[in-house]
Amino acid sequence: MQFICNPRGWVLLRFLAGWWWLSATMPQAAEPARLETPRTRPLRVLTTISPIYSWTAAVAGGRATVENLLPADTGPHDFQFRPRDLKRLESADLLLMNGLALEHWLQRTLEADATRRAIPRVEVSAGWPPSALIRDLPTLSASPQTAAARTHDDDRNHDGAPNPHLWLDPVFARHAVTNILHALETADPANAAAYRTNATAYLERLTQLDNALRDSTRDWSGRPVVTFHDAFPYFCRRYSLDLVGVVEEIPGNSPSPRHLAALMKVIRDRKVRVIFTETQFNPRLARQLAADLSIPVAELEVLETGPLTPTAYEDGMRRNLEILRKVLR
Ligand SMILES: [Zn+2]
Repeated sequence: MQFICNPRGWVLLRFLAGWWWLSATMPQAAEPARLETPRTRPLRVLTTISPIYSWTAAVAGGRATVENLLPADTGPHDFQFRPRDLKRLESADLLLMNGLALEHWLQRTLEADATRRAIPRVEVSAGWPPSALIRDLPTLSASPQTAAARTHDDDRNHDGAPNPHLWLDPVFARHAVTNILHALETADPANAAAYRTNATAYLERLTQLDNALRDSTRDWSGRPVVTFHDAFPYFCRRYSLDLVGVVEEIPGNSPSPRHLAALMKVIRDRKVRVIFTETQFNPRLARQLAADLSIPVAELEVLETGPLTPTAYEDGMRRNLEILRKVLR
């Protein structure tokens, strides 16, 4: 009682009561301070496909734990989401994905709210101009294929879906790496400076990769190109190659005899020099087609499968450049 009767004690009591009221009614106010608390363990990042793994591992530089959802030998067109993948998803602090419906098998899980908590996720294609997205396959002049056949996946069977293979454009890779940097900085501010330093160095390497591709492809401007599936339209547009056709319009689905006949006509008419096979797909059909046309095949890397390392993206793109140098010059 003596404490309350004391004027200074009364003031202190009112202050404490006010502080308690503020604390009770504004719990959000204390939240930001927790973000500054150093992590007791490294940030756990889950990426979906190999290129996003490479980009993220390069920016993380060992400061975060980076895992890829897809095994090295399985591409996004063949992947099946399994119960054990849900555990990996649930233990991640951050999910980095391509977007543009490439991860349709993951989208269902996320939308079904099968996970007990909302995992922060960032699509690395976010902010890429919609007007820069490609929605159609090359038109084979003799082909009756219409937009209905131009979808990328069986279970994504809607017209005009954007082609998701943006990663084969190194200029897009720079955009994606910037998105990844912002995501890591936000999720793990204690390591933001290191992430920024790593990203700056990696962005410079991507610029060098782009310059190497520009320097070489300048001489091949307008060359007609046929690839196995519709993975290279952004690459071809970036480096002024003319993508005139693909063997498989829907990955994993055998093309119709009518499509193959139209493709053979285009290859003859446009004097296409080579048919590009892809690492992850059986080359038998492309080889047969090339043999019928008396032209060679050469293998390009789509980077949908392959080693999970920080340099795998650059290594694969530079191997593609060497193949193009050999067959297009
Ligand atoms: Zn693909």
